[in-house]
Amino acid sequence: MTNMLRLSGLLFTILCLFIVPAWAEDLKGDPLSKDQILPIDDRINALLPQSKTVDDNVRQIYQRLTKQNQTFNVAENYLMLIIEANIATADGEVDAAISLLKQALALDEKMPSKQVYLPDFSQAHLLLSAAYAGQERFQEAYDAKKAYIDKHYQYREHLYLIRLAKLNEKYETDLKFKQNELLAKEQDVKELKLKDVRSKQAMQQRNLVVLTLIAIIFLALLFRQLRIRSILKHLAKTDSLTGLANRRTLFSVGERLFTQAKNNQHALAVMLLDIDYFKLINDEYGHDVGDKVIMAVVELGRETLRAKDTFARIGGEEFVVLLPYTQLKEAKAIAERFREKVQQFELEQVAPQMAERNVTISIGVAELTDKINDFDDLLHQADEAMYQAKENGRNQVCI
Ligand code: GH3
Ligand code: MG
Ligand code: MG
Repeated sequence: MTNMLRLSGLLFTILCLFIVPAWAEDLKGDPLSKDQILPIDDRINALLPQSKTVDDNVRQIYQRLTKQNQTFNVAENYLMLIIEANIATADGEVDAAISLLKQALALDEKMPSKQVYLPDFSQAHLLLSAAYAGQERFQEAYDAKKAYIDKHYQYREHLYLIRLAKLNEKYETDLKFKQNELLAKEQDVKELKLKDVRSKQAMQQRNLVVLTLIAIIFLALLFRQLRIRSILKHLAKTDSLTGLANRRTLFSVGERLFTQAKNNQHALAVMLLDIDYFKLINDEYGHDVGDKVIMAVVELGRETLRAKDTFARIGGEEFVVLLPYTQLKEAKAIAERFREKVQQFELEQVAPQMAERNVTISIGVAELTDKINDFDDLLHQADEAMYQAKENGRNQVCI
């Protein structure tokens, strides 16, 4: 029986050696234990393990400490009783040791419940068990050991709950940390998506601007091209010096008017005019002045002729006028007005050196008759009349 008690005591001590430090560590972290554990004087804490092998030093320190024992708290008194019991055991005073250990254990009720489970305190049961065993009081030794084991189980239960709470806390913290990380990643993804959308929008805007610019350039080029085409068309139809219809236009309009007049039996007159002695003007005043005289005559013609008439330049100083819906008489009257205007024109307006000079024109007028078969014929008639006017001394209208 003694051997069995000793063996179980040994096993339990080994178990405590490995487990107790870990439990003690956990207990330190127990937020409840801070308030519930009483402080222990460092000297008592140091003396407690030393008192297992009692020597003079242990006795001296113990003596010194007992002098101030009225200032000790219940926990410190508890440990002082255990140290005293160890000294008594070393002195062979087992009964005294048993009595001291019982006194210590009697303090259990006054001790904070968390602290009394600590091995430093619960070892009182073990020491008591060993003392009883030494006196072969096995039942009491067994009861003491059992009390010790019960206390340890409570201690372990308590530690288990603390560990569980810590693990839960750690798990919650980890979970929150992971959730925060996840939220941060989601935020990153959102920001990246937003960036992507923004860059796509910017690209679309850029493309729109480029397309608009291309469209504007294209339209500008198109308008320029159309304008050039219309200018070229106009140039192809007109005479560059005077802006009048050119020979080609005259024939195209003339043939059209001739056919219309022929088909619809309405009047059509033509006049052909030539500036008299123009070569002399050119020779005397120069080609430039000659040009100015041509333009002055054209301007007088524009003032005299009607909107429906076609005024064309067919040579250097030769012109043709198409007068639709116009009888010969009326055409002759218009031609006379034109001739008079030219005759009365003050050439000083064109060039100062020409103040004393004047310019005249000879005009031949013809009208459409049954005998005339085409526009060339009609024009030829007017040409003949014009030559007649030249022959007759110029500055006159012939029909
Ligand atoms: P006529 O009375 O018989 O018509 O005599 P004219 O001197 O006018 O004779 P003609 O019609 O033969 O002479 C025309 C001159 O006009 C010849 C040419 O030098 C000149 N001429 C032809 N085209 C132009 C032109 O565009 N500008 C100028 N300044 N002179 C031109
Ligand atoms: Mg001529
Ligand atoms: Mg002439």
